[in-house]
Amino acid sequence: MPTGWLNRKLLRNVSKSATAAHVLVVGGSFAGLSAVDTLVRSDSPMHVTLVSRTDFFEYLPSSLHCLVRPDYLDKVTTSLRGGDYKFVHGTVVTLRRHEAEVRVHYRDERVVTELIPFDFCIWACGTGYPEPIYNGSSTFLEMRKKMFRETRVNILNAKSLLVVGGGPVGVELAAELTELPVAALCAPRSVTLVCSTFELLVTLPERARWYAEMWLRNKGVRVVTGGRLAKSEDDCTLICTSHDGTVPTRFKGADAILWATGTIKNRALNAMNHGGLVASEDLDPNGRVFVRATLQLPRARHIFACGDCSVVACDQQRDLASKTAYAAIEAGRLAARNVMLLDAAIRADVQLSLNQLLRYPEHAFPLGTFPQVFCISLGKSDGIFCIGPLVITGKIAVLAKRTIEKLNVRAFSGSRFHMHLFTLLERVFFFIAAIIQALFEAKLPDI
Ligand SMILES: Cc1cc2nc3c(=O)[nH]c(=O)nc-3n(C[C@H](O)[C@H](O)[C@H](O)COP(=O)(O)OP(=O)(O)OC[C@H]3O[C@@H](n4cnc5c(N)ncnc54)[C@H](O)[C@@H]3O)c2cc1C
Repeated sequence: MPTGWLNRKLLRNVSKSATAAHVLVVGGSFAGLSAVDTLVRSDSPMHVTLVSRTDFFEYLPSSLHCLVRPDYLDKVTTSLRGGDYKFVHGTVVTLRRHEAEVRVHYRDERVVTELIPFDFCIWACGTGYPEPIYNGSSTFLEMRKKMFRETRVNILNAKSLLVVGGGPVGVELAAELTELPVAALCAPRSVTLVCSTFELLVTLPERARWYAEMWLRNKGVRVVTGGRLAKSEDDCTLICTSHDGTVPTRFKGADAILWATGTIKNRALNAMNHGGLVASEDLDPNGRVFVRATLQLPRARHIFACGDCSVVACDQQRDLASKTAYAAIEAGRLAARNVMLLDAAIRADVQLSLNQLLRYPEHAFPLGTFPQVFCISLGKSDGIFCIGPLVITGKIAVLAKRTIEKLNVRAFSGSRFHMHLFTLLERVFFFIAAIIQALFEAKLPDI
């Protein structure tokens, strides 16, 4: 029986008067909010509860800009309030088969633990990045604002700044730092970027790498590639030893060091470990959980994990370069649609096999292709936009990024109109990206 036909039949037959299932969504960001949106807009009878450590959604791809302009945070965040769903501001500390133990956050720092029962759970707790680029310890929006303001003061007072990491985050960060104001009587500030690879942005096409490096050098950033950074024995000097054995570069007295060396271990998944839902072999070294293509946990088919906190086979093939905001959005939607299918099957007393559920990435993107799209801003008026091997540079790239940012923040603040517009544009864009990728791949000569 074809999957699509069975799915439609099942969903149509769900009785509106049936007792609604309880769905718990953990994580109020790209994956979690798109799952919530899909569930509350569906016709399926569901009670949806969102639990999030932060009381706000933050459009992370624009957060680096807040280091230079902390007020910009108001433009890229929206508070989580609930409405069509119940919102609990708290951290899940233990996830059991049908119950979550949540430490609820109060402004007066009271510690209250609540137990939330569920029939299905969508786990979307992301991964960790070093602070200040990630909101790891800010549970309230005011704390995040304070962190940006303090970091800005520190970097404004620094004469030499060191950015460690030459991936998209390191490049965007170094570019933002070049736009910091310099006090009239101060000597110009130096910005150095160090990365262990021999080029910046190694996962992106060659023209993007070249453009980023030229842009940074033209703005006076010292780019040191092919070197690993370590502290010297006296702990005052940082030594960058290059892989090709040339003399190590010494950085004396960098006043501020900003780490952009990728993700750090995500401890949130300890909650699943405590609840006996995952074992150590189910986790990768960064604490992400391996899931089936249907996004279900291998040991619990009513629990899904999506976005940055999970690893699907296609992520491993792409060396995790597929861990992006738009991938998290689509994975969240797919997990929610699978929850609806499972729920409908249980009500209809039908057994669903694994291949009757939707699979990632085949059913998440148009033409079943994972779109290789990346947008990197270089300060406030330049950028690099990559669609597969196609590279577009200049103002248009940064304009595209700001448009996506605005639409996405409005959509997650509960505006149906913006959510529809965002979804429509995204679909059209992914479709175009899939065609461009297919055309370029067809042109590549056989090796
Ligand atoms: C500086 C920076 C720039 C980036 N730029 C881009 C870009 O240009 N384009 C792009 O596509 N991607 C970009 N990314 C990557 C993108 O932001 C991530 O892929 C995306 O945020 C993943 O979304 P997510 O929903 O899986 O997790 P996250 O966004 O990490 O959200 C996780 C959520 O879970 C909550 N949470 C965590 N633990 C718990 C718990 N135990 N209980 C309850 N709640 C919990 C957190 O509070 C948070 O709300 C960037 C990332 C960074 C850090």
